[in-house]
Amino acid sequence: MDFHCHLDLYPEAREVYKEASKRNVFTWLVTTSPRAFAANQRVLEASPTVLITPGLHPEIAHERASELGLLLEQIAAVCAVGEVGLDGSPRFKPYYEIQRDIFSAIVARCAELGGRTLNIHSRRAVRDVLDELRQHPGFGIAVLHWFSGTQAELRAADAQGCWFSVGPVMLESAGGRALAARMPRDRVVPESDGPFAKIAGKPIMPWSANQTAIKLSVLWEISVEEATQLLRRNGERLLMLMKCH
Ligand SMILES: [Zn+2]
Repeated sequence: MDFHCHLDLYPEAREVYKEASKRNVFTWLVTTSPRAFAANQRVLEASPTVLITPGLHPEIAHERASELGLLLEQIAAVCAVGEVGLDGSPRFKPYYEIQRDIFSAIVARCAELGGRTLNIHSRRAVRDVLDELRQHPGFGIAVLHWFSGTQAELRAADAQGCWFSVGPVMLESAGGRALAARMPRDRVVPESDGPFAKIAGKPIMPWSANQTAIKLSVLWEISVEEATQLLRRNGERLLMLMKCH
């Protein structure tokens, strides 16, 4: 399983898409813009194991703000949304107000439609992401991808019922491992974030959940087998809650 992958952005995207749809029981293809979502729906052959969702990545929010209307329309027809969120790092901070307007409109729309599952980027913006979610009760389910906040922010996100998608690159850093060690174990699912996430210059592939399980087993002091089973069970439960079928 892979709950956060940019399958459409690998150099050999079609091949990776085909292989992921065979090897994984589930892959969540998060798009970075509403137009990319529309293009993927046209170009990629639908697969029962790949979920493709419309998004508007906070790193390009200022360039794609004009596509917000399209995204809000697309959200009506899908069970889940992503990649969306906020990025407060220095490079994207100048556009933070635009990001906030967009993210707020997305979360409000999800609430208005009775709830959606959101795949959320929250780099240096966890508090604001959580505030936004609180302001729109009934928005649905939040999956915080590659969580990189503080331990206090992790506790706040846990208290709000968020899920966490965790991948091999996040677990390469001491900070990432310290966070994963404290995550609610029944709300952690695997992600690759490929092809952006790389180890030794090579993009993480969508079928790398076993790498995540190995690393989590060490942190959680359980066997690799148990970690694998746990991730699998969590993934199945989240999929049931997402009601995508
Ligand atoms: Zn991503």
